[in-house]
Amino acid sequence: MKIGVLSVQGAVSEHVEMTDGALRDLGRSGSAVVVRRVDQIEGIDSLIIPGGESTTISRLIDRQGLRDSIIKRGQEGMPIMGTCAGCVLMARAGDDDVERTDTKLLSLMDMKVVRNAFGGQRESFEAELDTVLFEEPFHGVFIRAPAMTEVWEDCAALARLDEHVVMAGQADFLAVAFHPELSGDSRIHRYFLDL
Ligand code: GLN
Repeated sequence: MKIGVLSVQGAVSEHVEMTDGALRDLGRSGSAVVVRRVDQIEGIDSLIIPGGESTTISRLIDRQGLRDSIIKRGQEGMPIMGTCAGCVLMARAGDDDVERTDTKLLSLMDMKVVRNAFGGQRESFEAELDTVLFEEPFHGVFIRAPAMTEVWEDCAALARLDEHVVMAGQADFLAVAFHPELSGDSRIHRYFLDL
């Protein structure tokens, strides 16, 4: 199994390490590879879009000519996980900030995101999250995190914090508003690999 980590900007190496660790934990062969070209997107079995800055990542996706192949492979059923800025890009709809910055979303998941949903005092924080996926809470690291204000159709809320949805799933897509690669807990990566 070859898991691509999109490497145009943002927290790439942490995802590579966490994914390799999750493969080991599951006793599965395979590895995480960094991808930044179309031919590399064609050769992977699943893709992680990391955190960073969604406007920048979106522009670099276009500059590298990756948008069509990411969307096409996603529509063909390739599992994709977007975390933080990557979570923003998975959405079909965004807030005024997404519009204002002309951040082009991949529109793969039926959900609306707000950027920097926890702004101000709570720009960065950590929280224990109850999720639909696991019995034990997941320790979420939030860094200028987005959140989903609406999910519809086949998109399901998997974790909430306050009034926000902070993790959502739709078919083989996963959107995570926090940074699962930074908590030293590979359960979300293992869940993704199982998809
Ligand atoms: N606030 C950033 C954005 O909207 C995301 C921050 C992050 O990925 N840690 O793109």
